[in-house]
Amino acid sequence: MRGPRLKYRYDHYTWVEIRDIVKQQPVVILPVGSTEDHGYHLPLDVDNFLSWEVCEEAARRAPDEMLLLPQIPYGFEDHHMDFPGTITITSRHMMDFVIDITKSVAHHGFKKILIVDGHGSNMPLLDLAARQTVVETEAHCGLVAWWNLDRPANARILTSDVQSHADEIETAVYLHLNTEAVQMDKAVREEKLADSRFYWRGSFRGKGAPPLLLMDHWSRLTASGVIGDATAATVEKGKELFEAAVEGLVELVREYRALPIVPRVDLHQE
Ligand SMILES: [Zn+2]
Repeated sequence: MRGPRLKYRYDHYTWVEIRDIVKQQPVVILPVGSTEDHGYHLPLDVDNFLSWEVCEEAARRAPDEMLLLPQIPYGFEDHHMDFPGTITITSRHMMDFVIDITKSVAHHGFKKILIVDGHGSNMPLLDLAARQTVVETEAHCGLVAWWNLDRPANARILTSDVQSHADEIETAVYLHLNTEAVQMDKAVREEKLADSRFYWRGSFRGKGAPPLLLMDHWSRLTASGVIGDATAATVEKGKELFEAAVEGLVELVREYRALPIVPRVDLHQE
């Protein structure tokens, strides 16, 4: 590493120190992102950059309560492969890889693991990986997407109707964190209104996610890669959204850390 050893970095400790830190039972955070198309205006690293920054800023604010693992920088992207540059990890590989990490952490005695996701299509796989970790180890393993850490704040700050991908929230938070890397002159709005009771793209204002789960090839859904309104993003919105997500993560970690793991009950015997 360069620079000082950081208190909240899992991989900045020696193995002897990790053996001691287990006794304090911090929440071990696994950030997961992707390397994926994000419109004409954003680099491929959006999901990695945003999820990492949210986790690291939260860890800076509560360094005794969380330990940050190195990030997984690739995700499940088979439906994005028409867009040059995207890297996909086969769904089963992705799940197995994540479970190998969470089970290793649990093996060393940590009882609270939290996966923080930055890429929507990772969510079903990460949910299964977290569940599998719970049933196969003595640990709790939870999952949260960074953009869900403060939904009321999102509803208050965001002005566009559709949130999905390379959209207002991702663009705004990226603008806040690194304005110069965003080509706002190339930002577009591509959103399809919710004209069905069951199926639409993304999370629609007032309706949330659609009842019908159907993920098509991304190139059938959008020309630019954007679903949502990237043009509605501003630095000011990004600052507020980022702060809300960071504070949400700190609060979530404190609550999750205190959540008791009660004994299982085997009901086979009367
Ligand atoms: Zn994204």
